[in-house]
Amino acid sequence: MAGLKDKAALNDGVKMPRFGLGVYLVKEGAEVENSVRYALEAGYRLVDTAAFYKNEAGVGKAIRESRIPREEIFVTTKLWNSDHGYEKAIRACEKSLKLLGMDYIDLYLIHWPGLNRDDRLAAWEAILKLKEQQKIRSAGVSNFKPHHIEDLISEHGVTPSVDQVELHPFNSQTELRRYAKEKSIIITAWGPLFHGHLSEAPATLNAIGGKYGKTGAQAVLRWHLQNGISIIPKSVKKHRIIENADIFDFELSDEDMKVIDGLNKDKAYGPDPDIMDFGFVNI
Ligand code: NAD
Repeated sequence: MAGLKDKAALNDGVKMPRFGLGVYLVKEGAEVENSVRYALEAGYRLVDTAAFYKNEAGVGKAIRESRIPREEIFVTTKLWNSDHGYEKAIRACEKSLKLLGMDYIDLYLIHWPGLNRDDRLAAWEAILKLKEQQKIRSAGVSNFKPHHIEDLISEHGVTPSVDQVELHPFNSQTELRRYAKEKSIIITAWGPLFHGHLSEAPATLNAIGGKYGKTGAQAVLRWHLQNGISIIPKSVKKHRIIENADIFDFELSDEDMKVIDGLNKDKAYGPDPDIMDFGFVNI
């Protein structure tokens, strides 16, 4: 794995960095602007935001102020649940573009499948239209199970390029990963560091990291990459943003990979996508 700028080839030909910064719960204004700035300075070239995070304007501002050419940075944002439906999805994407201050989004995801199938399918149709219009470069989903993805494919014939799901050593999603591989869908892990519950992780991880002169967090991030999973760890602290990116100069042994694999207990911190609605939460 070459390094921070190593890219995954998506099934539509777009190339996406395998590593980036997540900004969930990062405040609009100085907090998100500083986090993105620290990340870009540390070599990150992907930022993962969402309409729901209400910090797209700060993400866009920090990217512009970096003076790094727009095409060198990969921006992911997401369609919120209350914006499912064709017209609503088109308008929501246009609002995200305006807040970001950009004329295209690299990857646009349906944030959650939601419970209304017709509205979900109409949102996917809208996203395919936005791709045709080059307002987005790649179309994906988040928190989708195989049955949700199968439904999109059978209705519209287009396979999402990415599925972003909760994935960490306690919830390693082996079945979904097998399915995604078959369909050439890249999996991005959200909550790659236990969704903020790193302190619940076993000491084994620190011991594994220590063998390579790394922290437990770095060992976990490396486990993801060696499994072919793309990652978007979040931090607002400069030293952690740098630490999380410092994972390209070592390789976990097969034995250590197996020890981390063995921690799985199918424990998700987030809600079950088949139940999670929140469509009533307007943003
Ligand atoms: P995460 O697993 O990245 O954990 C983040 C937390 O871990 C930080 O707040 C910090 O407390 C801690 N941390 C970070 N680096 C550390 C280090 N080196 N050492 C010790 N502690 C450290 O959790 P996340 O923010 O939930 O997930 C990452 C990103 O995924 C989000 O910011 C967001 O962009 C995305 N996300 C997407 C969804 C979705 O539904 N699609 C849901 C949640 C998050």
